[in-house]
Amino acid sequence: MAHVVKHITVVPSYKDFVDIVLSKTQRKTPTVIHKHYKISRIRDFYMRKVKFTQQTFHDKLSLIISEFPIVANLHPFYATLMNVLYNTDHYKLALGGINKARQLIDDCAKDHVKLLKYGDSLYRCKCLKRAALGRMVTIMKGQAKNLLYLEEIRQHINRLPTIDPNTRTLLITGFPNVGKSSFINKISRADVEVQPYAFTTKSLYVGHTDYKYLRWQVIDTPGILDHAIEERNSIEMQAVAALIHIRAVVLYIVDISEQCGHTLEEQLALYRNIKPSFSNRPIVIVINKIDVVKPDELPEDKKKVIEEFQAEGEPVLEMSTLTENGVMAVKTEACEKLLAFRVNQKMKSNKVAGVANRLHV
Ligand code: GDP
Repeated sequence: MAHVVKHITVVPSYKDFVDIVLSKTQRKTPTVIHKHYKISRIRDFYMRKVKFTQQTFHDKLSLIISEFPIVANLHPFYATLMNVLYNTDHYKLALGGINKARQLIDDCAKDHVKLLKYGDSLYRCKCLKRAALGRMVTIMKGQAKNLLYLEEIRQHINRLPTIDPNTRTLLITGFPNVGKSSFINKISRADVEVQPYAFTTKSLYVGHTDYKYLRWQVIDTPGILDHAIEERNSIEMQAVAALIHIRAVVLYIVDISEQCGHTLEEQLALYRNIKPSFSNRPIVIVINKIDVVKPDELPEDKKKVIEEFQAEGEPVLEMSTLTENGVMAVKTEACEKLLAFRVNQKMKSNKVAGVANRLHV
């Protein structure tokens, strides 16, 4: 199963495609033929020219077919992202068209080579060769739109983020300015990459960290998981939908100081808003900026909000990315939670498999 989208070669326009193939034929099978040659030699020469052209078209079309991903085989993270891009049916039809063209070109070469076997003059052989190549060009012309379309898709695919959806991941969420990037910087090696996030003007920030000798991704999604679902456009919705497929533990960062510009009440509302998107994922709530104010120093009404966070049924931890107090504990809790979650998932699926086996016996 192809989990990560690989690099795809440029798809030329119909005109370039034909030019490339015909000039290669010209170079590799130069016309060195004379009237006085034996007819068998003339026939062989033109047959070779037709077959060579067919093979070049065939190889180039095969490259397209083999390089473009089959959506059903992709990891659902990438499949979901790619579904935003295009209508899957249109994509399948375009690839189907290319496949059909390859077949038609093969058949056309076969037919004309057969006719060439009976070519009785230089003129006749030349006409048959010209007809064969002309037919191949016409077949390719029929693919002009598909080629353009596939090139458009290729450019999008090459812009997909290169995160590994199968690597253990910490997905950082919360309003802007609550301290998400400060947290990532504290726990990551010095290589936080900025990845364009498909079809949005937003970027993904991807850092890496180690825990228990394993490599973990830490992803911040500015502009995606920092506002309410109702305010998201359809592309952002898809972007969130794609993130759900990553094996992640979700960290919801809360700014207890409210310096981020959002009250604790608003932060609780956003948490409740995005939580359903991650109903099948482990979640950790992190109260940040405790160097400014600690939960027990808060006024009563604000304390209540913290209690409501605690009543959500997820672990609630405290930290300050400024003093680094609690930062490592948050990382440990999050990683452990994901590891435990995955063990649980495995046990569950084994149980299901066990029951199924017993039913079959
Ligand atoms: P993001 O938008 O969620 O990524 O937030 P940032 O990490 O950029 O932080 C926003 C602001 O909050 C910055 O000015 C940080 O210096 C500040 N900040 C982040 N964490 C803390 C903290 O633990 N304590 C204090 N006092 N300020 C913090």
